[in-house]
Amino acid sequence: MIAAEVMSAPPPVAADGAGQRTILDRAAAGGRISAADALFLLEQGDLQAIGEVADAIRRRRFPQGYATFIIDRNINYTNVCVVRCSFCAFYRLPGDPEGYRRSKDEIFRRVEEALDKGATQIMFQGGHDPKLTISYYEDLLSSVKARYPVTLHSLSPSEVHHIARYSRLSIAETLRRLRAAGLDSLPGGGAEILSERVKQAISPLKNSAAAWIQIMDEAHRQGLRTTATMMLGHVETLAERVEHLAAIRDSQDRALRDVGPGQGYRAFIPWTYQPDNTELGATVPGRADSEDYLKTLAVSRLFFDNIDHVQGSWLTVGKAVGQQSLALGADDLGSIMLEENVVSAAGVTEKCMTDAQMIDLIRGAGRIPAVRDTHYRILKTF
Ligand code: SF4
Repeated sequence: MIAAEVMSAPPPVAADGAGQRTILDRAAAGGRISAADALFLLEQGDLQAIGEVADAIRRRRFPQGYATFIIDRNINYTNVCVVRCSFCAFYRLPGDPEGYRRSKDEIFRRVEEALDKGATQIMFQGGHDPKLTISYYEDLLSSVKARYPVTLHSLSPSEVHHIARYSRLSIAETLRRLRAAGLDSLPGGGAEILSERVKQAISPLKNSAAAWIQIMDEAHRQGLRTTATMMLGHVETLAERVEHLAAIRDSQDRALRDVGPGQGYRAFIPWTYQPDNTELGATVPGRADSEDYLKTLAVSRLFFDNIDHVQGSWLTVGKAVGQQSLALGADDLGSIMLEENVVSAAGVTEKCMTDAQMIDLIRGAGRIPAVRDTHYRILKTF
């Protein structure tokens, strides 16, 4: 629907500086930019000019000058998966000797290690193993919640889709049961690019783009807060990136209208595709360059007039570019990543960061480092 809007829209404005100025002035004044405007900025906009407005919007929304991060741990409960996304270097098919499922004792040990290091959040993320149905997830979430004071920002719409399918439950019932078992918040993994063409090209066995949005809409209706991600820099066109942004903004409009203020997505998190060790890497071997990534992030700050936080991704683009993102619209640098295995399997070099390194990075950007929780409440400043 949005793609049709983008494709059939007349050229948004003249392809010159005046056109860009008109869009940027509207965004700077608090107005909403259209999908066609966003496409124009991605195709022809100047990063410096877009970034200045993105930074001004960020300052208006968060005048205290903090740049936040969270201490958390990703725990991959299994790498067994039948979905075979061509961009993924993490999964192993059932029966593969390298496939694993973590025992509960191992999971508890990892949670305890994380808590010892100050973590407030655990992200359970895993493959789609047909042997795992809702009872496995209910037991996993409830047993961790019963033992530890930790927020479970866990699973993703694609895992929810998998659980519903193999448990023969509706999405609504699956989410209700996961929430009752202890799920506090739903991360926006598995979105990649919310375009059915792109989904067919890189992950034909995964949930559709429409299903991802429907799961998020249902989560929001049940009062579950979420985040949204974007994996950029592979087979997608710039128009498809805008289609992705627009699908999420429309979904957030519904959350704010139907559920209420302060609901829906907390944050938008763009990051770049990592090609190493992936099937897709043979045809898309390069990485999105830093200008492409930063421009997409800055445009997203302009586009999302209804989502509070935009997160820079140091993990996939490197610490220096992550630091630059703080001057171009980002207000948060995500996690220091006590453990990360999914993106790392596809070739990132900077797998983790200490608190001290994160604090230095943020200070180097001229901002006040602050540790936050899942809900973006400030826990400590430095
Ligand atoms: S991205 Fe997720 S769903 Fe796709 S193959 Fe990897 S583990 Fe499976």
